[in-house]
Amino acid sequence: MSEEGSSFRAPKGTRDILPPESWRLEALYDLARSTFAAAGYAPIETPAFEHTEVFARGVGETSEVVNKQMYTFPDKGGRSLTLRPENTAPVVRAVLEHNLHRGPLPVKLYYAGPQFRQERPQKGRYREFFQIGIEAIGAPGPTIDAEVIELGHRFLRGAGVEPRLKVNSIGHPTDDCRLGYNRALVDYLRANVDDVASGDRGRIETNPLRTFDSKEERTREVMSGAPLITEHLCPDCKAHFERVQELLRAVGVPFDVDPRIVRGLDYYTRTAFELTAGGLGSQDAVGGGGRYDGLAQSLGGEYLPGIGFALGVDRILLAAGDEGPSRRSQVDVYVVAAGEDAAGPAFALACRLRAGGIGAEIDHMARGMKGQMKDADRSGARWAAIIGPDELAAGEVTLKDLKEGLQERVAVDDVEGRTRS
Ligand code: AMP
Repeated sequence: MSEEGSSFRAPKGTRDILPPESWRLEALYDLARSTFAAAGYAPIETPAFEHTEVFARGVGETSEVVNKQMYTFPDKGGRSLTLRPENTAPVVRAVLEHNLHRGPLPVKLYYAGPQFRQERPQKGRYREFFQIGIEAIGAPGPTIDAEVIELGHRFLRGAGVEPRLKVNSIGHPTDDCRLGYNRALVDYLRANVDDVASGDRGRIETNPLRTFDSKEERTREVMSGAPLITEHLCPDCKAHFERVQELLRAVGVPFDVDPRIVRGLDYYTRTAFELTAGGLGSQDAVGGGGRYDGLAQSLGGEYLPGIGFALGVDRILLAAGDEGPSRRSQVDVYVVAAGEDAAGPAFALACRLRAGGIGAEIDHMARGMKGQMKDADRSGARWAAIIGPDELAAGEVTLKDLKEGLQERVAVDDVEGRTRS
């Protein structure tokens, strides 16, 4: 069987997350839950696929994600469906569909799950990857902007990543703000078009702000002299941005203002931010977010301001290494069956302990006594509860403290109380 065609290989760009890394993933999800729930955010699950339109309208047809990276397929009913490449548009779609915005505002939600993009795989970049994100919908800011940014920053620190935060404001689409800026930028790019990498020239007319995202050295050089949005903000957007910065400073969240952070579509407004981490090479972005006051309307709904972020779980795990939170299997007691007659009682004791909230494992491989004691070490259990013929006859177990090496006989009924930590 060729490597590529082998059915024992996960598809290109996907990966299996195995123990012990999978424990770290679980711990990260736990941390997300506790961090965001403590700020009043509720969990949401949306489908893994949506009508393609949700992303075409909600991410933008001129974006690279929509243009080149979506897994789009017709279903048997001839509908065009797309595996979600991101989760913001689906969340806003769900809010509109279920009228959550008619209830108390802002609607505050968090999600965690797989996203799909057909990108060229490399370290930290996959075709199926995992994101944790929050969305706060219905509040115009700026306190919610600061809240969302602070939550993202604090979550990453809790996850063992020392993030670098860059913030910007991209204004809003009116002539005295971003539209005016766009024109100045397009004029500048047209005047310097010969120096812009040929692959980037198309963006000048379709999505000029995105030229700041170019990876091409030539284009980046041109962009270093480009006019900056921060010099073109209208007074309201400027005041909003200043307030967000004040609030972040007040709670000690360190940041840099970087006017080159852009989200180049009309429904993105005002606050935009990016979180990066060291040790990740070229894929150092661990997350990004921003305000999307025009998104609900782009999806066909009413005006509904919103802000959120998405963090890349795979990259957090890479960046945090062993620093991140971890959780191992939590087995407290390994019940050892010495002799065939003890197998049933050992199983019964393990079940009883588990029902009482104590982690317990037993042997399923017909190991001898020695093999079971070794497996008890592997399990990480503090205690071995050994049941042999003598113990069986007496209704007792030999309880061995695997840490201290001491052992004593105790009644079966007392094992639960003795091993509860
Ligand atoms: P974006 O939705 O493109 O702003 O991405 C937000 C975060 O998701 C990024 O900062 C990355 O950490 C992560 N991410 C995006 N695309 C990928 C990918 N293909 N593989 C792994 N992580 C990704």
